[in-house]
Amino acid sequence: MGASSAVHAREDLFSAHSSRADHFTESVIREMTRLSLQYNAINLAQGFPDFPCPAELKTAACEAVHEDINQYAITWGARDLREALAQRVKEYNRMDFNPESEITVTCGSTEAMMASMLAVIQPGDEVVVPEPFYENYGPDAQISGAVPRFVSLLDDFSIDEEAWKSGFTKKTRAIILNTPNNPTGKVFSKKELAFIADLCADHNVIAITDEIYEHILYDGNKHVSLGSLDGMQERTITIGSFSKTYSVTGWRVGYALAIAGITERIRKIHDFLTVGAPAPLQRACVNALMLPETYYRDLAIEYDRKRKILFEGLRRAGFSCQLPEGAYYIFTDISEFGMTDTEFARFLVEKNGVAAVPGSSFYHSGGQTKLRFTFSKKDETLREACRHLEHLDLS
Ligand code: PLP
Repeated sequence: MGASSAVHAREDLFSAHSSRADHFTESVIREMTRLSLQYNAINLAQGFPDFPCPAELKTAACEAVHEDINQYAITWGARDLREALAQRVKEYNRMDFNPESEITVTCGSTEAMMASMLAVIQPGDEVVVPEPFYENYGPDAQISGAVPRFVSLLDDFSIDEEAWKSGFTKKTRAIILNTPNNPTGKVFSKKELAFIADLCADHNVIAITDEIYEHILYDGNKHVSLGSLDGMQERTITIGSFSKTYSVTGWRVGYALAIAGITERIRKIHDFLTVGAPAPLQRACVNALMLPETYYRDLAIEYDRKRKILFEGLRRAGFSCQLPEGAYYIFTDISEFGMTDTEFARFLVEKNGVAAVPGSSFYHSGGQTKLRFTFSKKDETLREACRHLEHLDLS
């Protein structure tokens, strides 16, 4: 084959064949981080801290490497980590899981969600996704072959019960729930969770819950795991992560908790997706789970202060927004500024030195009047960003 026909053949290989990847665009959140670096802006787009993780965890990670915990861990997670997780989840989430057969350690909650969906969904099954939603769930549904059915939250982020009831059909296999919620900051109450649990039971549906912000709560809000409600453990996959609670988003350690029959399937998918999560960091995560209760109290206090710094700065700059009940984002309304979300996000990062996420990336359609800012940053970073925002030059 001549050189030019080889090139031609290669082009055909890429252009003539479609793939699942053609059905979604790249992540807007991660793209905003790249733009933020390009324009040397303050990154209030992607939710990761610009402050260090606890010193104990750094030490534990270094020690693990020095102790030669550098080879593959058991595929579904090192035993000591699964045992520590079982203990922690029993105390905090009020659920019992057998570390031998019901816990899978994954590469972040991102992989836990993907492996869970691939484990329980048949192509064509419907999956209920409350909207607005964390950006990944759209592509997750596409990759697993699920048909997403979006159900909305009302303006105050409470559940639109009638819309949710009609979102469940004979084809519904699962619902994806994220509480505390990104991007809205909503924390679902026990009463709302009971409503969701009834829908799941009535329609024989599996709940996949993303509880990555379970410790980041304000104003006395309490985290309730859907799986802890009566009869729900057998039909819930509870997903958690070390990323946010311990400020180690780059470690990529998360987990999925589910009864043995479901875990068996999750483990098979997980094995062939990744083989396993990083072994030395799994060891360090055992140390994370040994931190005292005051660690979690202080984390919430720290984020509460950051929440107020950003909230007040955004209000002064003319954004209309609410204080979130949990997680570390403020979802603002930008109708007053006369630009769409993507125009405004571009403008802010290029001309104003602040990166935020366009609201439309949290909706299957809509969200053009919204922008999401994270406050998972040092106080001085937030104050600096607020100064930039207060001096918007819209002319
Ligand atoms: N789920 C939600 C709701 C998130 O906001 C994020 C990150 O921002 C993730 C999952 C990703 O978490 P992980 O780092 O555990 O993969």
